[in-house]
Order: sequence, then C-alpha cells, then structure tokens
Amino acid sequence: MMRWGLIGASTIADEWMVGAIRAVGDAVVGVISGNEARARAFAQRHALPQAGTRLEDLDAWNIDAVYVSSTNDKHEAQVLYAAARGWHVLCEKPIATTLDAAHRMVQACADAKVVMGTNHHLRHNSAHLKIRELVRDGRLGRLVAARVHHAVYLRAQLQGWRVSDKAAGGGVVMDIAVHNADSLAFLLGEYPVEVQAMVSTTGMAQGMEDHALSLWRFPSGLIATTHQGFTTPYARVGLEIHGTDGSVHGDGILHQRADGDLSLHNAEGTTAITLDRTNLYERCLQNFHRAVRGEPHHLADGQAGLRSLAVALAVLESAHKGQAVTVRYA
Ligand code: NDP
Repeated sequence: MMRWGLIGASTIADEWMVGAIRAVGDAVVGVISGNEARARAFAQRHALPQAGTRLEDLDAWNIDAVYVSSTNDKHEAQVLYAAARGWHVLCEKPIATTLDAAHRMVQACADAKVVMGTNHHLRHNSAHLKIRELVRDGRLGRLVAARVHHAVYLRAQLQGWRVSDKAAGGGVVMDIAVHNADSLAFLLGEYPVEVQAMVSTTGMAQGMEDHALSLWRFPSGLIATTHQGFTTPYARVGLEIHGTDGSVHGDGILHQRADGDLSLHNAEGTTAITLDRTNLYERCLQNFHRAVRGEPHHLADGQAGLRSLAVALAVLESAHKGQAVTVRYA
C-alpha cells in the first residue's frame, strides 16, 4: 500500500485519479493547491485527511509518492521537490514545457533512485496491449503506415489555460500530440525521427493552435499521420496500424474511458478482437507499483514522457517554420 500526496487540485485528479489510487489499494493522504479554498474543498469532497498550499506541507504527511497534475509549467519544480525528498513521482503529460526541464526532472528522479512515471494512460488500454501483441507477433507483416485520429471537442470546463495560456503549456499539440507519440512508440517500439506539421486556430484557442495535422517518419521507414484537435465534436477518434499482411483498426479507443472496438483485417477477412474494460488509470497505477518493486512493467517512465514532449515540440517547430524538422530528443 502506498501513501500518495496530490499536487494540483485538478479536474483529472478529481474525476479519475483519486478513485484509481484508491481502487488499487493505495491511500490518498492530501492535496496541495495554490488556492487554499480549492485545496480544502477538494479534500472535503474526497474525504482526504490533509490539504495544503505549499509543497513543504507535504513533508509532514508521511507519503511514499506524489501525483503531479498541476498546469504543465509547474510540473518541473514540483517533481524536483518530490525527488529531493525521495518520493516516487507520477507526473501528468506533457511532463514539462521545455526539453531542458524534462531532462532535469528525469535526471533528478534517477539521481534520487525514485520511480518517475508519466501518466500516458492510453498505453494501458486493452486495445493498445492487443495491438502491440499483433505487431510483435508479426501478424500485420511489414509495417507501412499508421493513422491516429485524435481530434475531440474540449468540454467547456476545460477551456481555460489549455486554450489561452501558452506559458502554462496550452495548445492542442502539447495536450494531445504527446499522447499520440506515446501510443505509437508503445505500439511500434520506435519514436519518430522527423515530423512535418500544420496547425490552425479554429475559434476556441486564443494565441495558439487548437487544431493540428502532422506527418511523422519513423526509423523503420513507417510513416504516420496524426490529427489532434479541440473543436470537432463529431470527428471519429481512433488509431490504425497498416502492414503488408494486415491492418488493425481501433475505433474509439483514445478516450479516458476504456471503450472502443478493435478489429483485425487480413486475407482471412475481418476479426473482432475482444477487449477488457479495465480502467486505464488503475492499470497505469498497477504498473507504477510494479516499477516501484523493480518488476517488469508497461509504465511510461520519465524518459517516455521526455520523448513524447520532444515530438510535440518538434510538431510545433515544424508548423512554425513551415518545413519538416528532425525531432531532437537530447
Ligand atoms: P485543470 O485546469 O482542472 O487543473 C490544472 C490546475 O488548474 C490545477 O492544478 C489547479 O491549480 C488549477 N485549477 C483547477 N480548477 C480551477 C478552478 N476552478 N479555478 C482556477 N484554477 C483551477 O486541468 P486538468 O485536470 O485538465 O489537467 C491537469 C494536468 O493533467 C495537465 O498536465 C494535463 O495535461 C493533464 N491531463 C492528463 C490527462 C490524462 O489522461 N493523462 C487528462 C487530463 C489532463 P492548483 O494546483 O493551484 O490547485
């Protein structure tokens, strides 16, 4: 059983992570927020024994780990604080707003010998696990292309810093392209080396993009299209991997809920693949436990968070320059 401190009285902690932490048998000890009233209200809503407004408040809570879900610009200082105290860290994506910050965070956790996980929940979807197996077993033949359809509608409650505050890490690329990078890396076993992107502002975001399309080239030669958006309530969400011997279609599998359908298409026809509906965040935490115990796991670690951020930054750079760019991971 691990004892967790929450850093950030956020929507994701409220709606998903408190429940997931408890569901895997851990305890949520308290929450830190920049706003005292919000901290207290959050703690009361979830019956947490502690609420605080400073990172130092965590010191007295006897915790093993922190879950960081503040705005993206704040993650670095909070993760460095936790690492310095020897607490394991589960950090939200994107783990930072710059690659330098991400490196410092990963290094600090490595130096402190604590686990740093990134909450890339999608790789814990049963669909992702099955696709990964099909790819690894060679069922699709030589892999040729991937398509990620990840344009959604950002609900009103979340139309704050994400669409108005670049410094906080807003914009659809930072928000969603990181997930797409992690999903493809988890499924394919490789990260893109080159990206070419276009972004647009379609009525919701101010001073930043709320829509982006990009092309990614992988070391194996596979090319992928990724589409991320905040303003399309009726767009289909899903992911496809195409090979010379088969294609796999995941429809509706890129949500917070464990939903959607998966099918394999090949010379034998179409086969529906049965999915389990395990809560993605709970499976993420189970993998976090395995990482803490030093066992094999599927957790996206700090390095995975750094690499998904690097891809998102390359997408933004490409859109800005109007040309293809090499993804810089170091
Ligand atoms: P929120 O906007 O809900 O929360 C972010 C911060 O905003 C909180 O830490 C809080 O600050 C502040 N805040 C929250 N509610 C209010 C309010 N009513 N008025 C003023 N400030 C408020 O963001 P999300 O929960 O959507 O995202 C938080 C992090 O989690 C981000 O890094 C995001 O990218 C990530 N995320 C990840 C998801 C996943 O599936 N992995 C899904 C959704 C988000 P304070 O810390 O001071 O309390």
